[in-house]
Amino acid sequence: MHDMQELLSRSHDEWLAAASRLTFETRLFIDGAFVEAMSGDSFPTVSPRDGAVLADVQAASAADVDRAVRSARAAFEDGRWRDLAPKERKRVLLRWADLILANAEELALLDTLEMGKPITESVRIDVAKTVETIAWYAEAIDKTYGEVAPTPRDALALITREPLGVVGAVVPWNYALLIASWKLGPALATGNSVVLKPAEQTSLAALRLAALATEAGLPDGVLNVVPGRGEIAGQALGRHPEVDKIAFTGSAEVACQFQVYAGESNGKQVAIEAGGKSPQLVLADADLEAAASAVAWGIFYNAGQTCNAGSRVVVHASVRDRLLQAVCRITAETFRVGDPLDPATVMGPIVDEAQLSKILGYIERGKQDGATVLLGGGRTLPDSGGTFVEPTVLDGVENTSVVGRKEIFGPVLAVVSYDGGVDEGIRLANETDFGLVASVWTRDVTVAHRTARRLRAGTVWINTFDASDVITPFGGFKNTGAGRDKSLHALDAYTALKTTWINLA
Ligand code: NAD
Repeated sequence: MHDMQELLSRSHDEWLAAASRLTFETRLFIDGAFVEAMSGDSFPTVSPRDGAVLADVQAASAADVDRAVRSARAAFEDGRWRDLAPKERKRVLLRWADLILANAEELALLDTLEMGKPITESVRIDVAKTVETIAWYAEAIDKTYGEVAPTPRDALALITREPLGVVGAVVPWNYALLIASWKLGPALATGNSVVLKPAEQTSLAALRLAALATEAGLPDGVLNVVPGRGEIAGQALGRHPEVDKIAFTGSAEVACQFQVYAGESNGKQVAIEAGGKSPQLVLADADLEAAASAVAWGIFYNAGQTCNAGSRVVVHASVRDRLLQAVCRITAETFRVGDPLDPATVMGPIVDEAQLSKILGYIERGKQDGATVLLGGGRTLPDSGGTFVEPTVLDGVENTSVVGRKEIFGPVLAVVSYDGGVDEGIRLANETDFGLVASVWTRDVTVAHRTARRLRAGTVWINTFDASDVITPFGGFKNTGAGRDKSLHALDAYTALKTTWINLA
């Protein structure tokens, strides 16, 4: 077991040595054990830090997914998990959280090697927040009550919540552990069984997470993991008639596919957390130094591969130059690009070559459409073998242009300026297909509140950005999705209401 502080004080050499000792489990996790994929298919996990192949992960076919779903269904139907007293489920989930913490070194390394996130962030955010999320839902479940309806005296009507059954959790690669925990925490706490389909890029961490759940005492079949290709394993889960709900986080395009799968199969519920083009609205009276820091962190943190990245700054023309000078200065001083196993690195690589070329393509497109590159703009650290890109600021972006509208999912800030009143700023901020998060920067408390009400986003921050916790809901309006992760509201998302009406006459 490693103390978090000890992990956070390690040197680059110590992390390199720890990484060299890692071994990888690459089989599917079904019915409480690692099993060979029936498909015989596999795909390589390539580390974006140096382009090295870490492992060949077995790829689930539709038949493998069916096996996992049948295991989950059997576990649900015989009540081995859902019928445990809530405090018993709590004990198992708390033990799981403890085991995740005890294995923080390995899980953080898997996350960093697979996805390229700086190791300190893997420890401090992904692993630590995953532990917190699982423990939080564990603690919540034996403190959650049903309701009694206001019936006449000759009746008693109970309103209770029951688990849905089998949940298919389909997650992306950018926070492999944490986003999985946003689904697994409430789904398992409420008594469901889950089949988790990780992103192709980040299967290893998910497999390890499930094995630890079994070690903690989660009954076999309650949590299964089927790594695999989206169009094969993801689709098979989305179309499976024995899956009651898909809890999806990923791109808006694939989210729509899951709605089609549901409509063409059993009409299962589909909860969607998709992307964003989230605005940071900086008004003329803003605290510019604070706003600049939040703008830089908002887009360059996790190399911009964050669904709620503040990828669009909408700034009043009177303060635009001062804001951008500060953003460029803070970025140059802070965002050291390098090996994600080096604790001094603040920005790691892009997850893979495909994503890198997409980002570089957007930068070129922005230039063609008239934007000016104020900072960065190209690939960097070519000798590393990794997929690194410079933190990039594109100024003079038209809000309706390609880089003004599309989610780039990389460290590319689009700067849109306006010279009218607050209404124009709000109009531009809202002029997007997405609605995940937004911020407003102003010293006027009335303007702040009035603006927050009018910004169409699931979370609006006032004079801050990316402040969050498991205690508040997360999700978005418009094409960003339907449903919310996190907070007690997520318990509702994995349960159905049941009325029991008793005749007392
Ligand atoms: P993606 O949509 O390509 O993949 C997400 C998951 O869907 C993966 O597990 C993938 O294998 C699977 N998948 C892909 N194609 C599929 C298909 N045709 N059928 C079934 N399953 C399929 O997204 P990504 O590239 O992994 O992640 C980046 C996206 O995720 C970005 O758009 C980002 O904004 C979004 N995201 C949103 C949130 C949020 O909470 N709103 C959080 C993180 C990431």
